[in-house]
Amino acid sequence: MSKFIRVDMASKAVKIEECPEQYAGLAGRALTSIFVANEVKPTCHPLGKYNKLVFAPGFLTGTSAANSGRLSCGAKSPLTGGIKESNSGGTFAQKMSKMDIKAIVFEGIPEEDKFYVVKVTMDGVTIEEAPAAIIGMGNYEAIKVLQAQYGPKVGVGIVGPAGEMRLTAANISFADPQSNIRSAGRGGLGAVMGSKKIKAVVIDDTGAGAVAIANPEEFKAASKRFTNALTTHPVTGQGLPKYGTNILVNILNEAGGLPTKNFRSGRNEWANNIGGETMAATIEARKGKTTHGCHAGCIIRCSQQYNDKDEKYLTSGFEYETIWALGANACVDDLDAIAYADREFDDVGVDSIEVSVTVGVAMEAGIIPWGDAKAMLELIQEIRKGTPLGRIVGSGAGALGQMYGLTRVPVVKNQAIPAYDPRAVKGVGLTYATTPMGADHTAGYAVATNILKVGGFVDPLGKAGQVELSRNLQIATAAVDSTGMCLFIAFAILDIADGFNALVEMINARYNLALTGDDVVALGKTILKAERGFNQQAGFTNAHDRLPEFFEEKCAPHDVTWDFTDAEIDEVFNF
Ligand code: SF4
Repeated sequence: MSKFIRVDMASKAVKIEECPEQYAGLAGRALTSIFVANEVKPTCHPLGKYNKLVFAPGFLTGTSAANSGRLSCGAKSPLTGGIKESNSGGTFAQKMSKMDIKAIVFEGIPEEDKFYVVKVTMDGVTIEEAPAAIIGMGNYEAIKVLQAQYGPKVGVGIVGPAGEMRLTAANISFADPQSNIRSAGRGGLGAVMGSKKIKAVVIDDTGAGAVAIANPEEFKAASKRFTNALTTHPVTGQGLPKYGTNILVNILNEAGGLPTKNFRSGRNEWANNIGGETMAATIEARKGKTTHGCHAGCIIRCSQQYNDKDEKYLTSGFEYETIWALGANACVDDLDAIAYADREFDDVGVDSIEVSVTVGVAMEAGIIPWGDAKAMLELIQEIRKGTPLGRIVGSGAGALGQMYGLTRVPVVKNQAIPAYDPRAVKGVGLTYATTPMGADHTAGYAVATNILKVGGFVDPLGKAGQVELSRNLQIATAAVDSTGMCLFIAFAILDIADGFNALVEMINARYNLALTGDDVVALGKTILKAERGFNQQAGFTNAHDRLPEFFEEKCAPHDVTWDFTDAEIDEVFNF
């Protein structure tokens, strides 16, 4: 029997039941989004008692399938006001699957002003007052304290000081195999966890067995073919393991789609100073690691260990989007300064995309000068102090832009637009505009350049084919986010047919099903419709599926504008 756990933080009641029929065939994002659509009142306050936070591993999480260790977290987002699924690596999801836990739901708000640790073991769930020492403590140290208390191998999901303060850019962080940090970053789910007074969830899988596989031989054969697709594709087999996602700096700069100085241009002269090639050389010179997996079984290993000048660990999971936002977009030409900022984001517990874009908006507002690395770090450190300015910065680009009366604020549905200029990479612009998640490149990575072709080539500067590309990738992504797979597998499975077939066959072998590719597409559509339906009931209309007006400006070097009509944008969700 798969367990479905409900933890009521108001009464401290815990209910462990057999997974309800309506959720039994779901996992990952399919489960979290359909659960939220079913059980959360769309008009509720995201930080109030009616919101619910749900954790769910994917269909293949905990198996030996490569790259299958992601955890989906879902709730109504305090940042966007709409539905949110945000997923993370780390060790938590695989432990849940091994313990045969389909989902953990956190409900209610305690009346008392205390933080708690929720402990999940094979014997049940307990709610304990959080150790006083970890309140206000950064995530790196707090994870050490919790693993000293509960066991060195326990999985930990935690909110940092930003989550305790319920800031709308707060994330939920998860310990990785080295007890460093991965995050369910986007949408402010850390504020939801903080509102429920949960400082941390600790999971101990001692006594759990292996994940049950209905047809082990078929699973093994499909898994081998799937691995082969990942290792032979140039992006997942070579580019990402060697340079991480930061390989994209030079690729996007070349394509004219690297937003620079708060989206004033798509190219700059100094991008290589912060690019993946420079970063890999720096890591090697400082005896770090250029490749690292954020969970056991990751074979792409896009993460890394970035050391400081004294060869001491500084950060990992150091992603292109963060480096772009503080580097090109805020004009900070200093990879070390960006790495210190990335560590601070992880430690204080905020979405590194949201707050990095906010730094650019702060420069737009004249709060700090463009390109000033020292001022940038000091501004970010205000979040931890909980000063009024720090709370605004920790509430995201939309909040800061509103406070300072700006119009040049790159957000959709109040979530910051990431690292691909929508005028020069038009397909991903449609994804930003229409995904129910708020601006999010991972919701449908329609990034076509002359080097990178995801889901087939379309001219990134033209409109032709972009609606279909964004739509198809959003559908495929919703399904992939339900498997527990890292989204980066999409590069391989969209290009290599046998990789996609092997993925479906692994799910069939795990559960003794007979799904086809069409069933996977149907699942993706069902998820998107549930998410969009939730948002509509929360008050969203097509008018919210729009980019900010300033994208009507021309973007150098191609002098392109955002030129989709409203009717064309609305076609993306016409399925
Ligand atoms: S490829 Fe990167 S993000 Fe994906 S699972 Fe591996 S380390 Fe994590």
